[in-house]
Amino acid sequence: MKELLDYAQEHADEILQTLRDMVEIESFSSDKGGVDTLSAYIRDRLEELGAQVQTVSQDEAGDHLIADWGDGDEQVLILCHMDTVWPAGTLEERPFRIENGLAYGPGILDMKAGIANSIHALKAIRSLELKTQQRVRFILNSDEEMGSPTSRQLIEQEAKRSSHVFCLEPGAGPTGALKIGRKGVGMFQVKVTGRAAHAGNEPEKGISAIEELAHQVLALHGFTNLEIGTTVNVGVMQGGAVRNQVAPNAEAMVDLRVATAAEAERVTREILALTANLPGAKLEITGGLNRPPMEKTPATGQLLEWARKIAGPLGVELEEAHVGGGSDAQFAAAAGIPVLDGLGGVGEGPHADHEHISVAALPRRTALLASLLVGE
Ligand SMILES: [Zn+2]
Repeated sequence: MKELLDYAQEHADEILQTLRDMVEIESFSSDKGGVDTLSAYIRDRLEELGAQVQTVSQDEAGDHLIADWGDGDEQVLILCHMDTVWPAGTLEERPFRIENGLAYGPGILDMKAGIANSIHALKAIRSLELKTQQRVRFILNSDEEMGSPTSRQLIEQEAKRSSHVFCLEPGAGPTGALKIGRKGVGMFQVKVTGRAAHAGNEPEKGISAIEELAHQVLALHGFTNLEIGTTVNVGVMQGGAVRNQVAPNAEAMVDLRVATAAEAERVTREILALTANLPGAKLEITGGLNRPPMEKTPATGQLLEWARKIAGPLGVELEEAHVGGGSDAQFAAAAGIPVLDGLGGVGEGPHADHEHISVAALPRRTALLASLLVGE
């Protein structure tokens, strides 16, 4: 809606200021104090706009927020996560700054820009006295970057109650394409127990856990098949204690990405069925699929077409992307609900030092979300 775009563009500085405020409150996933400070800030902002906000308190993770806005029997769900991958102190090294039309700062793209868009979309709708098509329910969770252990259930439950879901993760690529497909993400841990022995005096009595793990790492990486989008990555391995001892222990952390549910099941089964190569070595593999793959469904295709019609007059061309990174949208999609993911900021470098957003795109994305909520 052109009116919403004009409003957002007139208020572009205000949107940027909200974003700056949030970037300057560091919110690393495992820093409960930091995440709670940010959630209190967001709570105040949403309440100012007339939202009913509940805090879902957590003992270890940061507190989640559930906010309701507008009315109607039907519900649209908006997913935002407040946590970042950046430990406290990162801001001091890389403070918020604007350079050549790009705004930099830890968590700015993933996904504080999406939260700023959401707050200002509501503000624009309210100021222009427009109405949303459905009642809007937000979940702002605190542990997405850890796989959403304490918020997953809440997301699944609320997705099932919604006609559709918008996820405010960053858009893909330079145009901010919507993420219509996402790979499933698996997490596994491999533990090997061998037997210690003196490496010089009686090596024949030892069983090297490191040698065994080396076999396992090769087997795991052997599951990678780029053509069908399956990748297995051993991201961490450690083992042994001293040079001249046959290593009694070794372990590894494994990341799996798959494009389809069938492939997820197949590779998970094969990983868990791996056996030890060396006589006497003990192998223990735990873990499984964390986020199921998000595949394009006919309902998602329809939702995307509808969104494209609304985006057109705003000068936004909504491209479609299929990506390897995971998000909470996958929990909603697995519940069979159509999801548009990647409605947040446009930029580059999530989880990287050069993380930034396009300042010019910020009001356009705010207007896009507001227009989708209004439905025209
Ligand atoms: Zn994210």
